This record gives sequence, C-alpha cells and structure tokens, in this order.
Amino acid sequence: MQIVKSIEEVRSIVRGWRKEGLRVGLVPTMGYLHEGHKSLIVKAVSENDRVVVSDFVNPTQFGANEDLESYPRDIERDAAICEAAGASLVFHPEPEEMYFPDNCTFVDMDGLTKGLCGKSRPTHFRGVCTVVSKLFHIVMPDRAYFGQKDAQQLAVIRRMVRDLNFEITIVGCPIVREKDGLAMSSRNTYLNAEERKAALILHKSLQAAEALMQTGERDVAVIKAAIVERMKTEPLARIDYVEIVDAETLEDAAAIERPVLAATAVYIGKTRLIDNFIFEV
Ligand code: AMP
Repeated sequence: MQIVKSIEEVRSIVRGWRKEGLRVGLVPTMGYLHEGHKSLIVKAVSENDRVVVSDFVNPTQFGANEDLESYPRDIERDAAICEAAGASLVFHPEPEEMYFPDNCTFVDMDGLTKGLCGKSRPTHFRGVCTVVSKLFHIVMPDRAYFGQKDAQQLAVIRRMVRDLNFEITIVGCPIVREKDGLAMSSRNTYLNAEERKAALILHKSLQAAEALMQTGERDVAVIKAAIVERMKTEPLARIDYVEIVDAETLEDAAAIERPVLAATAVYIGKTRLIDNFIFEV
C-alpha cells in the first residue's frame, strides 16, 4: 500500500489501474480512523479491484469557531488500519495541495443542506460538496463509500452526484457503534469519562423513538417530543436539533408514510455529536 501526498501522483497511479481495466473504489475520510471507517474500506475492498482512502482534514467544511485545529490526526495509525483493511492507496494531501491560496470556486447546494446540521453549520456542506467533488475529479472512482452515520451528508452527496452527473455509484454503509451503542466518531476522543457516559443518551433516545414507531406510533410531533424528553434526562446534554424528515428529500415529515430519517445533534459538554436512524414503514 502506498501513501501519496500529491494529486499528480494519485492521478498517475489511478491512470495505470484504469489501463488495466481495474475497478476503483474511493473512501473519503478526515482520518483518525476507527471501526466505522474501516467498515467502509472493507466494503469497498470487497466490491472493487483497488481502493483509495483519502485522509484529509478538510478546512473548508469547518466553521470559524469549530475544531479544525484540534481535530485529531494520526496518519501512521491510519495507514496501518487502511493496509490491514486491504486498501491500495492512501491519499494524504496538505491543505496547500488541495486548495490554491486564491481558490474561489465552490460547489454549493440549496435545499437539502439548509436544515438539520446545515442550520447550525451554514457553510459546512459547501465545504463537503467542494472537497468531495475535488476528490471525485482527482481519483475518478467507479464507486464511493459514505457512512449512514452522517445521514445528511450521504443524502447531499447522492443529490450532488445526480445533479452534476458524476458517473460514480454512491454506496451508503450502516452506522458502526461501540458495544454500548455510542456511534463511533473521531470526535468521541474529545469526551472525558463522565461525558462519554452521558453521550449514550443520543442512541438511547433514538432507540426509544424507534420502539415507539415499531409499536405503531405515526405522529411525528409525539415521537419528537419523546426524544426531547428523554434527552432532557441527561444534564450534560444540550440539544442542537431533533428532527424527523423524509429520508430522501430531508424535508419535514408530516406523517410517517415513506422512509423517514430521525436525526439528532447534541452537545455533550463542548463536543457536538450526531446520531440517527432510518425507519421504513
Ligand atoms: P469522517 O472521517 O468523520 O469525515 O468520516 C468519513 C466517512 O466515514 C464518512 O462517510 C462517515 O459517514 C463515515 N463514518 C464515520 N463514522 C462512522 C460510523 N460510526 N459508522 C459508519 N460510518 C462512519
């Protein structure tokens, strides 16, 4: 497995693979890899001849007061995980390699990016769409793998690929959790022991909501209220949002008739965590 820092080098390696007729998978990440990332890589390896993992803390998707500087980084550990999972190449560029100092071109999206995480992170998805478009142009994969953990991101990427005619299949992968149910995230490393316990409230509240739906509750307001009430039992938790939306359009779901996404973002101390589930009637 190779670790490559330059766009030109990635292009030349992938060009070689293409000449051999090999299928290429891409797993975009911000590094500090865990089992969630690994599950994406393993899936990509099972469906493609070569897999590229990008490992890049993308500055354009962080807001001014967010954790760009403190975001955890460990490329050596990441590379070992990628290699063990069967990846062929890790693309680990410096920010200067990805963005010209006078870069002024961005990929922006209306609609799907305005609600949920977009409300409190208004420039986040512009950064995500821009960097993912760039990675798609650099690697030109046949398939790209994204986690359901970031449900809005997955929906946004699917829409971008449709709207901008990228010839790439987007593969969504299920959320990988710790044994106690906490969704794995690189940001979990910010939590102290007390906060780590408190963080379980996201999954517990959503599980309670899922149980309500399974027993036939179809009133979105009732289900949302149940999630909020449960969250409030955890003193360290501060809700950013609790939403139930159409799983594809991300528009408010009035009733539960089509697949819905129940999603939440919650601050545990200073750490903002997200979790969700999809419910199909
Ligand atoms: P990140 O490095 O956090 O930007 O995540 C890179 C990719 O891994 C995204 O597609 C995420 O949705 C996915 N991912 C992160 N955490 C998990 C998880 N716990 N389970 C499944 N996929 C995940």
